[in-house]
This record gives sequence, C-alpha cells and structure tokens, in this order.
Amino acid sequence: MDAIRDDLKTAFHKEGYPSVYVELVLAPAWTTDWMTEHGKAKLQEYGIAPPSGRAAAGGHSGPVRLQLAVKCPQCSSLNTKELTRFGSTSCKALFVCQDCKEPFDYFKVL
Ligand SMILES: [Zn+2]
Repeated sequence: MDAIRDDLKTAFHKEGYPSVYVELVLAPAWTTDWMTEHGKAKLQEYGIAPPSGRAAAGGHSGPVRLQLAVKCPQCSSLNTKELTRFGSTSCKALFVCQDCKEPFDYFKVL
C-alpha cells in the first residue's frame, strides 16, 4: 500500500501537482466484480487469465460457487488444469493448459 501511495504521489508531482494527499479506504473491500472488461482484457493480454464469475454476495454464506473452467490466456482453450491453488500471489492460482502446455496464472474471483 505504501508503494502504491508513493507511486501515485510521484505521478501527480510529475504532472505538476505539488501537494497530493492519498487516502487509503479499505471498506467496502475491493472485489473482482469491480474489475472492468477492459481491465480483464489487459490481464489476458499480459498472460493472466482474468477472474471468471462473480464474487459471492455477503461473504462466505449462501450458495457455493463452482468453477467450471478457466480459459487459457494463450490459446483460449478450456482444457486447463489447476496445478496449485496459490500462484505467484495469494490472489492467483497456477494453471497449465493441456493443449498448448503453457503454465499461466489465474486471477481468482475475490
Ligand atoms: Zn493454451
């Protein structure tokens, strides 16, 4: 969070805003439901499968969400397999495509 705050201040200073205050707001908690289609497309272009589906409303209660398939960001195949629930960060899982054989991160629904 400190790095994000510092990067924002630096970017605003470069654009001529000498006095910048960055307020950190943690509630409501961020969810992948807020991710735009443009943002999801950018993730896929970068080689990360974007989240599919929507976050469960109201936290952990209610129906259990099922993950049907994750599309390979390289070849769009749905023939993929989860290798490990946690990838390079805790919000990503590591998958491999069974067709093109490329490993990739999947940004989990949060
Ligand atoms: Zn593939």
